[in-house]
Amino acid sequence: MKIPFVDLHAQYLSIKEEIDEAIAEVIAQSAYIRGPQVEAFERAWAQTLGAKHCVSCANGTDAIYITLRALGLKAGDEVITPAHTWISTSETVTQAGGTVVFCDTDEATFTIDPADIERKITSATVGIIPVHLYGQAADMDAIMAIARKHKLWVIEDCAQAHLATYKGQLVGTFGNAATFSFYPGKNLGAYGDAGGIVTNDDQLADWMATFARHGGKNNHVLEGINSRMDGLQAAVLNAKLPHLSAWTAGRRRVAERYDELLQDVEDVTTPKVAHDRKHVYHLYVIRTDGRESLKSRLAAADISTAVHYPKALPFCPAYDYVGHTSRDFPAAYRNQNRILSLPMYAEMSDEAIEEVVFQIRTALLLESTTHGSEISENTLVT
Ligand SMILES: *Cc1c(COP(=O)(O)O)cnc(C)c1O
Repeated sequence: MKIPFVDLHAQYLSIKEEIDEAIAEVIAQSAYIRGPQVEAFERAWAQTLGAKHCVSCANGTDAIYITLRALGLKAGDEVITPAHTWISTSETVTQAGGTVVFCDTDEATFTIDPADIERKITSATVGIIPVHLYGQAADMDAIMAIARKHKLWVIEDCAQAHLATYKGQLVGTFGNAATFSFYPGKNLGAYGDAGGIVTNDDQLADWMATFARHGGKNNHVLEGINSRMDGLQAAVLNAKLPHLSAWTAGRRRVAERYDELLQDVEDVTTPKVAHDRKHVYHLYVIRTDGRESLKSRLAAADISTAVHYPKALPFCPAYDYVGHTSRDFPAAYRNQNRILSLPMYAEMSDEAIEEVVFQIRTALLLESTTHGSEISENTLVT
């Protein structure tokens, strides 16, 4: 049984007519860049979050960059981000002219460690970008308390966390602004790149919309960038949005089943969900010591897995200049070598979940009995 990591085609087939119709409408109207579909999606996404504004843009990375520029980041300003995240969270800080300051993550929830934020604050710190990594909210009460105490802004990176909650409140509604990615594989994904920023701040929203579209039309009020959402992407998002709750429930069903089946598997730690948060499982990430061999044994059994992310950012060549060592981010360092993301999509069948777990058990058993003996390994696999 071949099991993909995600199955975007299965999702398409489940709502094929709605998608085809939405795309046909954009083509009939030639509404390719912005247009009625984009405006409708901005209203719908803001309403979903209960926010005043959604400013759409070309992708989730631009969403962070645009927000940083809107907040007036300048040379010398320090911005705190987690060490273990996708590089969009930090690269945009540098591109907007600021200085990245990494914090360690909590080993069990994978989100930024508030205690480390406190330690990293200096007189130059201006803001924090928590990431709701894998679909679980960061510890927002602690983060917002630190922000208030030190008068810092907060941008929530919600790229992996559409509809996740913290103490019953949707992520994206805590900070000054929140950024979303609608990359195809995200929980709400377009059929290409797309992104958005949500905020209740009228002035911020206005500036961001202007900046993302060349600083206005004709009588340009500033030099902006070109970061617009396509009509086709917005049409796909509009068609998909009504299904997002059901898909989120589907992801939770898969996660619950994994949790149950993996419960008694020694050597595997299932994702820990803090009691006050509702996870949306963009990724289902286990921890295990024999990650590399498990990953390759699963691949041999036709099961696709992935690692998000094999190197925490401070240890990547891009940040050599900072000169961090593994001791500076012990939890992120331990996690990067142990994490493994299992197949996860709302349409995943019980049979497929059971197969993944069966293959994990088999792989771990092989590992413990053979211990590198190639002869017995081959005998058992075939
Ligand atoms: C996907 C992602 C982004 C960036 O989104 P793009 O749309 O790919 O630019 C930013 N932050 C995190 C944590 C992400 O997972």
